[in-house]
Amino acid sequence: MDTIVSTTKNVYRFGDKNTDGDKTMRNLLGGKGANLAEMGRIGIPVPPGFTITTEVCTKYNNLGKDETVVLLLDEVSDAIKSIEETMGSRFGDATNPLLISVRSGARVSMPGMMDTVLNLGLNDEAVLGLAKKTKNERFAWDSYRRFVQMYGNVVLGMKPENKDDEDPFELCMHQLKEKRGIELDTEFDVNDLQFLVTEFKKLIFERTGNDFPTDPWEQLWGAIMAVFDSWNGKRAVYYRQINGIPSDWGTAVNVQAMVFGNMGPNSATGVCFTRDAATGQNEFNGEYLIDAQGEDVVAGVRTPQQITLKGSKRWAELAKLTEEERAKNYPSLQEVMPKLYQELFGFQNQLEIHYRDMQDMEFTIQDGKLWILQTRNGKRTGAAMVKIAVDMLHEGLINEKEALLQLIPNKLDELLHPVFDLRALKRAKVIAQGLPASPGAATGQIVFFADEADKFKNSILVRMETSPEDLEGMNIAKGILTARGGMTSHAAVVARGMGKCCVSGAGALKINYKKRIMTVDGHEYHEGDWISLNGSTGNILEGKVATMVPLLSDEFAEVMALSDKYATMKVRANADTPKDAKTARSFGALGIGLARTEHMFFEGDRIKAMREMILADTVKGRILALQALLPMQRSDFEGLFEAMQGHPVTVRLLDPPLHEFVPHQLATQKELAEDLHISLGAVKNKVAELHEFNPMLGHRGCRLGITYPEITEMQTRAIMEAALNLKEKGITVSPEIMIPLVGTLEEFESQEAVIRQTAQKVFEEYEDTVEFTIGTMIEVPRAALLADTIAEKADFFSFGTNDLTQMAFGYSRDDAGKFLPIYLEKGILKDDPFEVLDREGVGQLVSLGTKKGRSSKKNLKVGLCGEHGGEPSSVEFCHDNGLDYVSCSPFRVPIARLAAAQAAIQ
Ligand code: ADP
Ligand code: MG
Ligand code: MG
Repeated sequence: MDTIVSTTKNVYRFGDKNTDGDKTMRNLLGGKGANLAEMGRIGIPVPPGFTITTEVCTKYNNLGKDETVVLLLDEVSDAIKSIEETMGSRFGDATNPLLISVRSGARVSMPGMMDTVLNLGLNDEAVLGLAKKTKNERFAWDSYRRFVQMYGNVVLGMKPENKDDEDPFELCMHQLKEKRGIELDTEFDVNDLQFLVTEFKKLIFERTGNDFPTDPWEQLWGAIMAVFDSWNGKRAVYYRQINGIPSDWGTAVNVQAMVFGNMGPNSATGVCFTRDAATGQNEFNGEYLIDAQGEDVVAGVRTPQQITLKGSKRWAELAKLTEEERAKNYPSLQEVMPKLYQELFGFQNQLEIHYRDMQDMEFTIQDGKLWILQTRNGKRTGAAMVKIAVDMLHEGLINEKEALLQLIPNKLDELLHPVFDLRALKRAKVIAQGLPASPGAATGQIVFFADEADKFKNSILVRMETSPEDLEGMNIAKGILTARGGMTSHAAVVARGMGKCCVSGAGALKINYKKRIMTVDGHEYHEGDWISLNGSTGNILEGKVATMVPLLSDEFAEVMALSDKYATMKVRANADTPKDAKTARSFGALGIGLARTEHMFFEGDRIKAMREMILADTVKGRILALQALLPMQRSDFEGLFEAMQGHPVTVRLLDPPLHEFVPHQLATQKELAEDLHISLGAVKNKVAELHEFNPMLGHRGCRLGITYPEITEMQTRAIMEAALNLKEKGITVSPEIMIPLVGTLEEFESQEAVIRQTAQKVFEEYEDTVEFTIGTMIEVPRAALLADTIAEKADFFSFGTNDLTQMAFGYSRDDAGKFLPIYLEKGILKDDPFEVLDREGVGQLVSLGTKKGRSSKKNLKVGLCGEHGGEPSSVEFCHDNGLDYVSCSPFRVPIARLAAAQAAIQ
């Protein structure tokens, strides 16, 4: 075997004294590791430990287990020694054992996606030592029980894979509870726990054929490799896919001394947020449990209690508990451990100021001592994101640029989603109430299993609680409803991250998975029944409740104004109708970058006139049909121009292949034949004639205007007449006419001539003129290559990156659905190039085209009007390449404005 000589540092220590890393090293140490190091450095109490770098994860994929152990052996042994010294205990010792946790941690947080093992280092001897040392037998056996279970699940592959599988350990515990007539894990006594450990080990032997490993070092290496493996687990892969996280980042592994929240009434564990992750309110909040460990709080097994008194009272109100019941059974941490609460409050304050962002923290109290186990920038809803950034700016915690950079452009989308119509809401019947875990309005049909979320077009996923396996279904469902779990339950956290409406912990619901029924107060709701969720109040409503467009907050307006202050590139909208144009204006679009004229021909009578034009055998016949279209088109343009109040409007001449307009079904063909008083055969012949083998590369774009100049004439006339009519009304319009799909200068010139002649004619008839420009889309690669010659004639360019991508890659947009998903899965492409502009290839055409164009016309106006215009990373690319504007769909205008500002700041 070749020996591997490691020249790089693979292991970084953290803790009070010995901290190697800091918060800037998240690529190498993962977010969790970098922040543990940082907290150690600034004096926050974190249990000592070390981080194995993300680079090792990547190496592990090639080296395999054995060689990775060789690679790490010395460094890990040293680091364990260092923990032993700090903790005054020894790993693998029978009388004074050091227990550790092995935790995953990628660059960006992927909550619950990868695996963690707690209490590692226990075996049949060590558990006795631990019991003796702590004088707490129950605690020792509880820890051992948890360890064997977690190790079995995570390392030995005994995790249930689908909904029909039961977790063998949970099943075993359930049976024991029934036998003993108890309900909670905390009610197990020492005997029960000892019994469970023995049973768990038996189960492991039966399933795997191997004994549970008693050697702590074997346990440790097994757990480290399992964390590396979990990077490629199904859940993690899917999470990466929907969040655009590259698979080559890898995860770090954090090995850390255990601190115990399960040592009795003086111990606890919990999670907390420096601000409200749902609404953004500046209120410290969170949940905790006495005598509990690790995931107990989020797992929904016991009802978690609130950390603050204020939060506790609010929670009790929603849970319909009296103040007496609350104070007795569910008191806040503030009441139970006031000193520790104050300490925790101090740390959360310190961390928020230090990180200059809202923090999501994990803590554990071991026998009266507080430890912080994790901090990270908290996931939040779009509304909370905006409020927190603006509040922090006003509080003087961050500056304007930091506020803008704190925002995730795509999450603004959530703020534009519909909310319930207040009147409809008043009439709706409230079925029950849960916790307002993630705001929004959702209406859909009930499904009970995550993998059936696609059963209906709009579904509401109803579960006792959710787990990381449910991620895909949660993403598909319109809303999520759980019967158990609090504001920090898996469902709540994930839903907020997705910006999805969620009501959690609705205790009044009884769910029967087998029968697929949910019962509330004797009422049954079945799979497929419609319900609505109000994620802002926690109300569950019967049936479909109508929605309306949301009112945008003052904070939103402030963020937009701030964006415009820093952005240098303008944002326009793609809009074809006055309605879209008005929406675009209300979202702050500074013009229309693409008005597609073909959409104007599909409605009502227009399609008939259009078909008549297409079916005409003679130029004369065509002109006659076009004359019928002229007034309609003119009034469309008037509407558009008027809605844009003097902001520029780029009108693209007819673009799609003509066959899209003719009927392909016999019945409609017959109808058309009757309408036009021609034979069915004639219609059929024409349809056949228009058939193309490759319509995307066929008779479309300027090729239409060149073969049928009458069309360009009519469209130009409509544009000019509309502009002149508005001029009379006192509205100035300077139309920008855009010729599609130009590949040669001659194509451009031929269309330009028709446009200029027609405009001249109209001006003479009106005895008046308007200013106008003629430009082209750059969407055929040849046009980008010859941009300098085209720019000699064109007044402006607009990159049509949908077609440019299609033609640069040679992927037909209409057919790419068959292979692109596989390309993404196999990692052949990192992103769908139709979503995220391909900087490497298509991007070259954009920058080359811009440079060449401006080399012959210095002030050439250049924009981009593909789908990419509303995609943040593509917007950044456009900014970096000096484009004057991007144009995107109206609802993406705010996103593009923010992305443009971020690009300018960075
Ligand atoms: P995730 O990334 O899924 O949040 P974590 O590694 O943070 O996973 O750990 C899962 C749970 O175990 C958390 O509640 C965490 O606080 C707890 N935990 C992890 N390490 C320790 C430790 N050394 N002592 C006590 N609890 C721990
Ligand atoms: Mg965690
Ligand atoms: Mg195009």
